[in-house]
Amino acid sequence: MLNLDRQEVDTSEIDRIFALQKSTALRWRKSDYQERTERLRKLKKWILNHKADIRAAVSADFKKPEAEVDISEIYPATSEIKHTSANLKSWMKGKSVSTPLSMLGTSGRVIPESKGVSLIISPWNYPFNLAIGPLVSAIAAGCTAIIKPSEMTPHTSELVQQLVSEVFDPSEVAVFQGGADLSQALLSKPFDHIFFTGSPQVGKIIMEAAAKNLSSVTLELGGKSPAIIQKGANLKDTASKLVAGKFLNCGQTCVAPDYILVHQEDLPRLLDEMKVTLQKFYDSNYAGIDQSPDYARIVNDKHFERLISLLDDAKRKGAEIVFGGSHHPQDRYIEPTLLTNVSRDMEVMQEEIFGPILPILTYQFLDECIELVNSMAKPLALYFFGEGKMEQEKILSETSSGNAVINDCVLHFLHNELPFGGVNNSGIGKAHGHYGFLAFSNEKGILTQRVGTTSSTLLNPPYGLRTKKILSYLIKWF
Ligand code: NAD
Repeated sequence: MLNLDRQEVDTSEIDRIFALQKSTALRWRKSDYQERTERLRKLKKWILNHKADIRAAVSADFKKPEAEVDISEIYPATSEIKHTSANLKSWMKGKSVSTPLSMLGTSGRVIPESKGVSLIISPWNYPFNLAIGPLVSAIAAGCTAIIKPSEMTPHTSELVQQLVSEVFDPSEVAVFQGGADLSQALLSKPFDHIFFTGSPQVGKIIMEAAAKNLSSVTLELGGKSPAIIQKGANLKDTASKLVAGKFLNCGQTCVAPDYILVHQEDLPRLLDEMKVTLQKFYDSNYAGIDQSPDYARIVNDKHFERLISLLDDAKRKGAEIVFGGSHHPQDRYIEPTLLTNVSRDMEVMQEEIFGPILPILTYQFLDECIELVNSMAKPLALYFFGEGKMEQEKILSETSSGNAVINDCVLHFLHNELPFGGVNNSGIGKAHGHYGFLAFSNEKGILTQRVGTTSSTLLNPPYGLRTKKILSYLIKWF
């Protein structure tokens, strides 16, 4: 049992497992797609046989509703396995590339080779999905993995450990449980790839540690994802999608809409539609949203207090609570809260909210939205609601974000043909499907030359007039 807490980081155990995985990785690099899909099949079978345990573990961690566990923890994992297994054979084949004229006589191809031993560090907000999703990509690519799940969701982390110990040998996949100290101890090893999901602040620590060993990294981070609503957009449809995306997981979603930009004339109607939707989703019998079985809780006291302090700061600086605002610390409940009269100096507009508080700002001209988005760190996702093709293109071409969604939000996470991830402050590298497979692979470019050809030897020393002529010809024509 590799259960280590902050006080007792057993580095010798890390060394032992790392060495074992090093030698497995050499064997796994040679594994064919049948062996890899067989590993994925076992993983999927375990998940399907333990759906009730997964629901119970995540619910014990932060009262996440059963349906939300199914849609956002179990389904993404099983769907990732299904999609990966169906496509792995063709992904592993690699591809041939065309031959430039200057390389005539040679052939070129790209083969994805397994990077080797990987480290997966996952966060608490989707504690099952975000540990297992990257593991699927690692296994598909032929990598072994050490997983360090979040210490903030101990029930799910324990279950992830159980899964891994029942499906794999520690020399293939292992779980180490613990906090930042354990992460640091793991990060001292020369991993071939590190896949980190978490905050931009910790992302920087991970990248710094990875630099010491020149380990490659995928950093799936967070940030403030805006939702821009075009003037005259269908507000009923927009409100319903925004409420669903924002308050899923009690707002603790990396791609949750962090703030809304709506045309000033549309604000009153948007608020009406959002209030009606909130009532319908979580309080149709008027018993109070805190009685809803479909609304999760804040993960721990630290995050609860952080969110309340964001709210207090906003109120102090003049924000108006137009819906919600109530909270009880005993079960870390915060009502879905809509804020208007929000200004840039409020903390809710400076840090990722990561909870059920939604600032709504107004604009007069679309350019103001572009300016605001471009003045902040590049977001993980940008959402645009509106059917104007010109406006859609304008927003897409004049802003930068990891992903963008038109007329919906959050949904792109489930699309396994799309690369998922951020840009700069919101992330480095992409995940999901083929992109996840490539993250754990080295795309090896291979050039094959024929024996006995003279093309490359024409440029050998001694460099005389002939070399000069060939080079000037090359530079001019190729
Ligand atoms: P976090 O960065 O605090 O922790 C993530 C992981 O890093 C945990 O396993 C934690 O133990 C470890 N860790 C914490 N401090 C560390 C340190 N000093 N050194 C090494 N490891 C350390 O993030 P979190 O609070 O668990 O999750 C919330 C953040 O994750 C948000 O910013 C959210 O947007 C982001 N997130 C991103 C995605 C994505 O796919 N892009 C998905 C979910 C969450």
